[in-house]
Amino acid sequence: MPITDPEKKRIAQAARLVMRICFNCGCRNDINATRCRKCRNPYLRIKNRNLGVKK
Ligand SMILES: [Zn+2]
Repeated sequence: MPITDPEKKRIAQAARLVMRICFNCGCRNDINATRCRKCRNPYLRIKNRNLGVKK
């Protein structure tokens, strides 16, 4: 079921895809985070993909 409202789709994609993932425990962190919120590990990978963006 496609999302027809482009504004809602943008918000949903930002919430799902723009985040940082901890290498150690795999939990999600804020995009601006420099350390993991759970284990304080500074090694975070960015999860910022553009899936489903079609024009
Ligand atoms: Zn962690």
